[in-house]
Amino acid sequence: AAAPRIDYQAELNEQQYAAVTAPPGQTLVIAGAGSGKTRTLTYRVAWLLDNGVLPEQILLLTFTNKAAREMLERVASLVTADTTRMWGGTFHSIGNKFLRWNAERLGYRKGFSIMDREDQKDLMETVINSSGIDTAGFKFPKPEVIGDIFSLADNTCTSVEEILKTRYPYFEKIAEQIVRIRKLYQDKKVETNCMDFDDLLTQSVRLLKEHEDLRERYQRQFEFVLVDEYQDTNSLQCEFVEMITGRDGNLMVVGDDAQSIYSWRGADVGNILQFHEYWPRATVHKIEVNYRSVPEVLSLANASIANNKSQIQKQLQPAREAKGQLPALVPLDSGSAQAQFIAQRILELQDEGTELNEIAILYRAHFHSMEIQMELTARGIPFQITSGLRFFEQAHVKDVAAFMKFAINRRDEVSFMRMVKLIPGVGGASALKLWNAWLKTDASQADVMTGKFSDLLIPMSVPKKARETWDQFAYTLDELIIDGVPQPPPAMIRSIYEGVYEEYMKSKFKNAEQRQQDLEQLSNYSSRFTDPLEFLSQLSLLSGVDTDNKPDAQPEDRDAVTLTTAHQAKGLEWHTVFAVWMADGMFPHARAVEESDAGLEEERRLFYVTITRAKDELYLTYPLINHQARDGDILMRPSRFITELSMDLMEKWNVRSGW
Ligand code: ATP
Ligand code: MG
Repeated sequence: AAAPRIDYQAELNEQQYAAVTAPPGQTLVIAGAGSGKTRTLTYRVAWLLDNGVLPEQILLLTFTNKAAREMLERVASLVTADTTRMWGGTFHSIGNKFLRWNAERLGYRKGFSIMDREDQKDLMETVINSSGIDTAGFKFPKPEVIGDIFSLADNTCTSVEEILKTRYPYFEKIAEQIVRIRKLYQDKKVETNCMDFDDLLTQSVRLLKEHEDLRERYQRQFEFVLVDEYQDTNSLQCEFVEMITGRDGNLMVVGDDAQSIYSWRGADVGNILQFHEYWPRATVHKIEVNYRSVPEVLSLANASIANNKSQIQKQLQPAREAKGQLPALVPLDSGSAQAQFIAQRILELQDEGTELNEIAILYRAHFHSMEIQMELTARGIPFQITSGLRFFEQAHVKDVAAFMKFAINRRDEVSFMRMVKLIPGVGGASALKLWNAWLKTDASQADVMTGKFSDLLIPMSVPKKARETWDQFAYTLDELIIDGVPQPPPAMIRSIYEGVYEEYMKSKFKNAEQRQQDLEQLSNYSSRFTDPLEFLSQLSLLSGVDTDNKPDAQPEDRDAVTLTTAHQAKGLEWHTVFAVWMADGMFPHARAVEESDAGLEEERRLFYVTITRAKDELYLTYPLINHQARDGDILMRPSRFITELSMDLMEKWNVRSGW
């Protein structure tokens, strides 16, 4: 069939069209929320393909893998080129792809494991304990805090000393020890062939920096590099973009300085504001029309962000017609009254014909959703939640993955320890003994697995109580690798489940049935991978830095209300948005208020992101009394982000009596 020719001019406004058809070189699109930045990038990709660029010459970097997938699907519907050959995803997933090809150049081996935050913490603990550093005398930072410090150093491309000085001054006097731990931790990762999330980027950048041949090769391959949400990139990501694009490469980035909300994680809005310093010949495009929201919502958003001093002034014009309904400000008696109001209103919206998946409930902090979750459950309103404990971070999912990881990467200490600690009677000390015994076997050091796990493991001395289970473990591991070849992921999961895990789970967890369903879901999801390494990488990537957190076995377009934090709502849109707990101290967060103007301004940008998710209806709700506060009931005031605005911009709803 002939390609459906795109009428670019009809589907884009003048400014968008100019960006989409911009000549090669560097292009910055800076524009407000809902102005079509993501749409512009999507059409740019289509336009490149229409003009003879090959899919494999395009690299698209997005904030979530889901965003990349959606954009590629959209492109696929527009053009005939084979978009599966394009590289698209988050910085981390692209970094992972690079490293799978080239990790050996860095002293790693191909089958390296990726550690999520929990694995990282476990490894850090091992490193600290064996470092000989006295952690008792002084209030020594917890392993996860040390992890945060290293992560911030990596992502901002600064030294640990500098991070301590600016962010953790109370640890400055133990800087020397922390630096020593960093070195030990780095070595340990290479030794156990594991990378943490930050390595996926730091090591990729190192690879490109230190190996000219690779740099040239990839710069040649990726003729066109495109980045969405550029305002939330950090120095490391910025460096990656510079390396992969090359001085004279073709780069298009889009972003909105008013939506920069990740500085706490090292993001630097300077990357977009000072774009010209590195790319002096870049052309800049601005889009000043908002297509997403009705004018009533947009006026509120414009008025709010105008209170920020540090920003590029823009006044977004609405493309849509007035709705005749102002955003609602809804004070309620309590948290549970708030939950009831929302549930009630959702049922009414449904009656009016709004689909549940066109409704979102957004909050500042995850615990703000608890009462709402309970209320929705009680009323049988389906919802999906994209924060809190992620699917892939749950203990049973990680347990099963630990078997797979160890079977493939026999240096993976963290997975080994996790696995053997499942055996009743095996604690930290015996697990470590077993690990050391394992290290003495030749197989633990060989790159290719020869022989059977059972031949190697069974002779090891284990505590008597553990004997039987241990043997079972060994036989189960045998089934995962047959003749040196890892089995497909679903087969592995089945072997682990039937071999050892089912019994363990039933003895250990009350809700074994739920967990069993989770593992079935995991198995379904895994069936799309033939290479277990690829599957395991994907698991780790999904659990850590991304907002995709469910396997697709649970379809996203299932008719359900979305509950999510404001941070994770970035880039998305819904017909109706409920912004809840809009009380001072909740949003803005109390800590941000105490901090500095900069902290408060970031909080206001988050507020701006929140309200600009709404297309048609926006509800700002808050409870007048917080019954859950630590020191008893607390009287709440509306958020200063609301009281600083003219009340003409909203309509106050009085639903208090009778609720
Ligand atoms: P955000 O800042 O939230 O990431 P954005 O600038 O990326 O927003 P998009 O998500 O690309 O904006 O677009 C917002 C909405 O407006 C989408 O539904 C999109 O399809 C629509 N839209 C954008 N441009 C146009 C246009 N020229 N004609 C019709 N609809 C448009
Ligand atoms: Mg966008």
